[in-house]
Amino acid sequence: MAHQLTLLPGDGIGPEVTEATLQVIEAAGVDIDWDRHRVIGANAVERGRPALPSDIVDSIQERGTALKGPVTTPVGQGFTSVNVQLRQRLDLYSNVRPATSLEGLDTPFDDVDLIIFRENTEGLYSGIEYYDERLDIADSIARVTKRGAERIIRFCFEYAQAHGREHVTLAHKANILKKTSGLFLDIGRDLAAEYPDIEFEDSIIDNLCMQLVTNPENYDCIVSTNLFGDILSDLTAGLVGGLGVTPGANIGDELAVFEAVHGSAPDIAGQNVANPTAMTRTAAMMLQHIGEDEAAAAIEQSLFAMYRDGDTLTQDVGGDASTSEFADALSDRVASKV
Ligand code: ATP
Ligand code: MG
Repeated sequence: MAHQLTLLPGDGIGPEVTEATLQVIEAAGVDIDWDRHRVIGANAVERGRPALPSDIVDSIQERGTALKGPVTTPVGQGFTSVNVQLRQRLDLYSNVRPATSLEGLDTPFDDVDLIIFRENTEGLYSGIEYYDERLDIADSIARVTKRGAERIIRFCFEYAQAHGREHVTLAHKANILKKTSGLFLDIGRDLAAEYPDIEFEDSIIDNLCMQLVTNPENYDCIVSTNLFGDILSDLTAGLVGGLGVTPGANIGDELAVFEAVHGSAPDIAGQNVANPTAMTRTAAMMLQHIGEDEAAAAIEQSLFAMYRDGDTLTQDVGGDASTSEFADALSDRVASKV
């Protein structure tokens, strides 16, 4: 039976990389019945609708899983980022961002294989902010709850266990932020005791950044609060070839929205030059999530082979192929594997 999933192509380069990705999924032989929504973000606001129309939220709640392209947040147009709204309304508390070296890409390291697990709903992004005009003092509250910390850290351990990973690093600043980072670290230590097969360590965020740009191969799973996780995942994307190749997922207890780390890249939109690698790897994560392991592996292995051979790569990674040429070449490789 066909999988019932939601598709949000997004804007900017979104529709191009989404088309490329659909072609690749089809080549992998997975049967999907998509509920496709093009009206979102600025697109929706122009039509007098909310930036995140409720039929999109309903569709994902009903179907459980969505594949999403980037949606631009116009500066100064007064609507909250659709990406942030979706994560909050659907309670997608785990942001999973793998960073894996691609053989054939010229980057400073060639053996990076780690995953950042970023808490997606609280911390410094809780939205609790004050400005005292009398005293000219600004406050942003970093709220960490026991429940919020427990569920993201447990998610990280469970994911590690399910994917045969052996090491979890918890990133914090508990020496200074004794309450918030302190609580996060305490809960991490408690939970680590429940997973004796997984090696656990904690690392102070500034030191971890230094370690990651000198010895990234020493890291496996890294879990952290919202802001630290956000910064860490861009740092680790940079270690392995940048935004064009880095996948991502937002996962909650029941629902999941798979989206690449990159934004809508308006500078290259509509030119058939965007790199669909990030989106196709994001789709591979989604396929694994819905139990289509074979198709997911075929896509990942074909991508790795394309980079290893170095043919038909896009501009951002030193090639001269277009988005659609890349999609054709990848689809051919995938079809020959399944
Ligand atoms: P947004 O406001 O939606 O985040 P942005 O202008 O910040 O958009 P990003 O997508 O975040 O753009 O990426 C920054 C730059 O990286 C882009 O301008 C683009 O040049 C490059 N880039 C991002 N994604 C890709 C991709 N898939 N292929 C090629 N280049 C990309
Ligand atoms: Mg951006």
